Amino acid sequence: MFTIKNYVVAEDLAQAYELNQKKNNVILGGIAWLKMGERNIQTAIDLSKLGLDKIEEDEDSFKIGCMCTLRDMEVNESLNSYFDGAISKSLIHIVGVQFRNCATIGGSIYSRFGFSDILTCLLSLDTYVELYNGGIIPLSIFKDMPYDNDILVRIIIKKDNRKVSYLTHRMSATDIPTLAVAVSRLEDKWEIVLGARPQRAVLVNKCEEILSQNPTKEEIDFLVKHIMQEVKFGSNMRGSKKYRQILAGVFINRGIEEVIGGTHEN
Ligand SMILES: Cc1cc2nc3c(=O)[nH]c(=O)nc-3n(C[C@H](O)[C@H](O)[C@H](O)COP(=O)(O)OP(=O)(O)OC[C@H]3O[C@@H](n4cnc5c(N)ncnc54)[C@H](O)[C@@H]3O)c2cc1C
Repeated sequence: MFTIKNYVVAEDLAQAYELNQKKNNVILGGIAWLKMGERNIQTAIDLSKLGLDKIEEDEDSFKIGCMCTLRDMEVNESLNSYFDGAISKSLIHIVGVQFRNCATIGGSIYSRFGFSDILTCLLSLDTYVELYNGGIIPLSIFKDMPYDNDILVRIIIKKDNRKVSYLTHRMSATDIPTLAVAVSRLEDKWEIVLGARPQRAVLVNKCEEILSQNPTKEEIDFLVKHIMQEVKFGSNMRGSKKYRQILAGVFINRGIEEVIGGTHEN
């Protein structure tokens, strides 16, 4: 159990950022993860009065405030119809509805867990994080940055008409994933993301050089071979390296099939 000495409801982001510069002060998301730990928190910083619990949409993008819950994203019709239901598919297996009504997108993306479903899914889209001090940077860069004392204010997903598919395997319904795969195609440019390897999600290099817009079986087989050589898979209690590699091959085929209009359902 964690312990909080002082609790501050931030009046604005400047105050929250200033407080967060002290080593033992902590930003609160939905606290679903924090409460599992043993931290002694000097000052807990609550962002819930800053209006960051909205999903906003304009012509170019979706802007998702850091205090939006995973459930807000899961059931948002516009977000899910735009991205082929992939965002919802990446969230529905996380614990249960009550849990997803608490856990936030800010806490999830800030944490950059190796097993993160939503990090895997968002990396296959044109996604950015808006940091209070660090500005707007691509999620693909943020995911490998060291943890610091900045505040993740919003997630921005560009509307670029890509097609996307999200697939995951779990040992049991609400467990963390054994492997997560997201596949997207923007015109003839493919992105493939592998998460829960069990290491943090990675984007596969050179997909666009290997796959044509409607790839042949030979191209897909070649890509899978390339991934087995280039991407690191590991073993843990949820699956061996070999098992994850087999799953990856199957999911990449299914994801591509779904994106090019095949019949596969997760
Ligand atoms: C039992 C359990 C099972 C889970 N299973 C899965 C799963 O299957 N798949 C999956 O993808 N995820 C899973 N998760 C992770 C979960 O979905 C959330 O990602 C996690 O709980 C963090 O979100 P939170 O809102 O609870 O963050 P918190 O616990 O509130 O915070 C986590 C960290 O993020 C920091 N933080 C929070 N918000 C911000 C912000 N705006 N800016 C900067 N720092 C911030 C906090 O200071 C803290 O260090 C699981 C978590 C638990 C506890």
